[in-house]
Amino acid sequence: VKVLVTGGSGFIAAHVVDYLQQRGFDTVFTVRSDEKGKRILENHPDAPKERLSYVIVKDVAQDDAFDEAIKSDPPFDYVLHTASPFHFNVQDPVKDFLDPAIKGTTGILKAIKAYAPTVKRVVVTSSFAAIVNGKQHPKVYNEECWNPVTWEEAMDPANTYRASKVNKLITKGSTYEVTTVLIVAPVPQTFAEKAAWDFVEKENPNFDLVTINPPLVFGPIVSYLNSLDAINTSNQRMRNIVQGQFKDAIPPTGMWLFVDVRDVALAHVRAIEVAEAGGKRFLVAAGFFSNKVLVEAVRETHPELESKLPSKDYPDDFPSELYEIDNSQSKKILGMEYRPLKATVADTVKSLQDVGA
Ligand code: NDP
Repeated sequence: VKVLVTGGSGFIAAHVVDYLQQRGFDTVFTVRSDEKGKRILENHPDAPKERLSYVIVKDVAQDDAFDEAIKSDPPFDYVLHTASPFHFNVQDPVKDFLDPAIKGTTGILKAIKAYAPTVKRVVVTSSFAAIVNGKQHPKVYNEECWNPVTWEEAMDPANTYRASKVNKLITKGSTYEVTTVLIVAPVPQTFAEKAAWDFVEKENPNFDLVTINPPLVFGPIVSYLNSLDAINTSNQRMRNIVQGQFKDAIPPTGMWLFVDVRDVALAHVRAIEVAEAGGKRFLVAAGFFSNKVLVEAVRETHPELESKLPSKDYPDDFPSELYEIDNSQSKKILGMEYRPLKATVADTVKSLQDVGA
């Protein structure tokens, strides 16, 4: 059984590729350069060429970007689309985020329909950002919820990543002052995911669609793709804690849900293994956290880092009232069992120490 994974150099995709290899899938991943492709292959020295290889897709936002990559012999059975920009450096919302997210997603679906009729299912990495309603949280989030962000709102660079106001605690001697700051979470996945469901509905292709919607993803960094200076976006706060950057002031948490990257990766693979997953979105979330909770987990799992951590008395910004999440569909259909925060933190910190933190 043969699978194409887009964005093979990504944090989530690297773990997806590992699971696919462990579970016996022939895997082709896309990368933007030969250099990255070779580096990934070098780190899978036991995989023969027919088991693991790469193709170059330079920019997913280009028209016809996937037309060559999708043609393969033997042909693909499944496609896992994870390639999409994930960082907080917004210059131009359309060029930097919305185009690669949306055109990348519709582009690969069009290419599959045109050139790869053997593909039975496409799994798209979406996000909890496509579920969350920052204006009005429901009591419980599940797969029926959609982010109501409009295109006009997304055009504003301040909103490209969903802006939300949070309280920041600033240390003043032995007291704390509260100020309100703006922090942000991504919305391009909302439009990209909608475009994917629209495509399947309108074009009636040979494949069905599954989306995986994770919140903030922590977990072991991929040592051959990352360095401490170039850490994937969602693990940056873990790196910052370990490096002592939270010692004087814990920054606002801003988002409260997490999941381990290994669970997200497994969900992608289960989504092609389990027939009943077809046509469904999956909220793949383990539980709640705050930056203060992360700090305390580090204190417990890595006592040697005590001198880098803020005082135990530092307040927690976790809200007194918050929505709930319903991840039961992912447990029931995909068989997910989520790692608890402490295990995720312990393994993430270890992976950071392995690259010199
Ligand atoms: P990474 O930044 O680690 O990986 C992104 C991947 O996409 C990289 O392989 C990158 O290539 C590739 N990519 C980005 N832009 C382009 C482009 N224009 N053309 C071709 N390739 C491109 O991110 P994650 O693994 O964390 O995220 C993967 C997906 O999961 C994204 O869609 C993200 O929105 C979603 N997600 C992530 C969450 C998280 O907390 N990590 C949470 C929720 C959703 P290169 O290495 O060459 O830059």
